[in-house]
Amino acid sequence: MAFPIKSLLVFLFLLNQLNCFSQINQNDLTQNVNDTTFVNLKEYSQDFVYDMKYATADNFLKSKVYDCAECYLRYKTVKALILANERFMKKGLKIKIFDCYRPLDIQKKMWAIVPNPEYVANPSKGSIHNRGGAVDITLVDFDGKELDMGTSFDFFGKEASHDFPDFSKEIKNNRNLLRKIMAKEHFNSFDSEWWHYNLKAGLKDTVSNFKWECK
Ligand SMILES: [Zn+2]
Repeated sequence: MAFPIKSLLVFLFLLNQLNCFSQINQNDLTQNVNDTTFVNLKEYSQDFVYDMKYATADNFLKSKVYDCAECYLRYKTVKALILANERFMKKGLKIKIFDCYRPLDIQKKMWAIVPNPEYVANPSKGSIHNRGGAVDITLVDFDGKELDMGTSFDFFGKEASHDFPDFSKEIKNNRNLLRKIMAKEHFNSFDSEWWHYNLKAGLKDTVSNFKWECK
């Protein structure tokens, strides 16, 4: 009977090691990381839903502009977004992500496809997405069903505006909930796009062309 007990002890030891490992890789926001360092959101939380539209051709550009779907942001943006998501989760909801940090070269690629400042930020100025402080998001329930926000992501028209008056109470409430909780974690909304949020502390960071590796 000695062998099974030994095996059990080895198993428990490995399980413990695995636990330690996963704790280091998830939700550990106490690491000594500089606030402006670019990090991958999924390494800090498993509680987000992803639908990275620009890593597919399912977007208004009708073009796949990212080689792979990853959500990189400055560390301070990740911390604030996780705190916002925790607030939503207490209400039975989660953040679903459409876009995060966007390298300047990708911005140039988008501008080459649609060189219209009403739809794409001019890369000569760059946007907060190029600074790692902006996210495009909506809310889903724990089954992954999106809340009705009145329009789809990247709908270009007055209906995408926070102030558009002719929506049902439910849609207005959904948008207001998103805006209210994001504001609590110091994100500014953007009047003409209900899905876009800028971290206030990220507005003055430099435009970046940092690129992540696709595995
Ligand atoms: Zn955006």
